[in-house]
Amino acid sequence: MGLYIPNHARCLVPGCGNRPFFILSIRMRRHDSGATWAPNLPAYFCGQHANGGSDITILYTPTTTGKNHVKVTVATAPVERMTPIR
Ligand SMILES: [Zn+2]
Repeated sequence: MGLYIPNHARCLVPGCGNRPFFILSIRMRRHDSGATWAPNLPAYFCGQHANGGSDITILYTPTTTGKNHVKVTVATAPVERMTPIR
């Protein structure tokens, strides 16, 4: 059984619009190699953007809600600046 990707879904990369065949997923692995949780995210990607390389930053904030709230933001042109401290 394959992963379900809605027919209306499009690649999440801004301006791409290709039909996606990949789903981003994260998981919390246990030491016995199983996973406590592993939600597929509603973050779909075409082959080019799924396998062409990426730069991923994860900010993990523990809570007491018993739920995982995952936000995925795709930035193709992040604004970044590094300045010396004087
Ligand atoms: Zn794409």
